[in-house]
Amino acid sequence: MLLRRELHRRGLRYRVGYKVISKPRRVADIVFTRQRLAVFVDGCFWHGCALHGTWPKNNAEFWRDKIETNRRRDCDTNRRLYEAGWTVVRVWEHDPPREAADRIEHVLTELRGDAAQRPGQAPGTEESPYVGSEK
Ligand SMILES: [Zn+2]
Repeated sequence: MLLRRELHRRGLRYRVGYKVISKPRRVADIVFTRQRLAVFVDGCFWHGCALHGTWPKNNAEFWRDKIETNRRRDCDTNRRLYEAGWTVVRVWEHDPPREAADRIEHVLTELRGDAAQRPGQAPGTEESPYVGSEK
């Protein structure tokens, strides 16, 4: 995959086909585990891209159902990952590898910066704004 090669060329290291959620099983195409960034490369046909998604005439119902199921699952996967503290980037298989890599690199940089601004916040150190106040 050209995108993977491009990321590698930029010195980024990632895992491929990494299981990000066990139940239900969800696998991301490219994963940066330390930054908790999951990248999905969606196929134009299977995920119904607006530019190249075609809706076959033969067995139209079957295919439409299949593609819509995929799209619903994509939304569900996004939601589950966000809830688990992941960042999700979706790129289309038609996206130029360089542009897709730019986006991913940008998000990675932001995630790293974020982590630096929050130096090990221990649980329970936050002060409640309601301490001492009466109802
Ligand atoms: Zn496309």
